[in-house]
Amino acid sequence: MVSPAGCWWRRLAVAALAVSLGLEAVYRYLRRRRRGTPREVLFFPAPLSCSEPLLSPGTRCSCPLPHEAGGALSQLLRRLLGARRSLDICVFTFSSPPLARAVLLLHGRGVRVRVITDSDYMAAAGSQIGALRKAGIMVRHNQTSGFMHHKFALLDKSIVITGSMNWTMQAIQTNKENVLITDDGVCVRAYMEEFERLWEEYDPAGYHFFPEDDKEGA
Ligand SMILES: [Zn+2]
Repeated sequence: MVSPAGCWWRRLAVAALAVSLGLEAVYRYLRRRRRGTPREVLFFPAPLSCSEPLLSPGTRCSCPLPHEAGGALSQLLRRLLGARRSLDICVFTFSSPPLARAVLLLHGRGVRVRVITDSDYMAAAGSQIGALRKAGIMVRHNQTSGFMHHKFALLDKSIVITGSMNWTMQAIQTNKENVLITDDGVCVRAYMEEFERLWEEYDPAGYHFFPEDDKEGA
């Protein structure tokens, strides 16, 4: 039999738990509102529009493209430019000038940028990887056969951007592509682990330039 005092304590504990869960839900809601909606889906191709209002705010651009900040590319750029501390990019092909400018802008602001890409495609015509490296951004790539075929990025280790799209103008302007942006904790952790795993695997200190057999035979 439960004493009246025991019953009272149990009710108090349940009430405290309910209040605590309620406060946590309110905190999460407010945090999401402050950062903007961190869950969205973008579809490409996107209609052509000028990226200058986002990449060079305050400057006047007289190009013939529409300047209203709308469309999927603007959404993607706005999301990227929201990074405050870190940007970890893991993409197969990176040749889009506006996306590269956004990454360089972030690098210039002191955001820690790391890039993982595919060794075959990083030297292809139009690739932006050279420009990123030249600016001092850390880039690592696969060394083994089999493409580094991922297409995802992590903002501030708290938002993941993923989907079918390579960071190319072909993908943005011509292809049917999907991009999912989410702050789901399970997804963010999984992508973060994959990024860190590949970052270590592609550390140049571990490269083998000659097969072990050749070394022995020399
Ligand atoms: Zn313009």
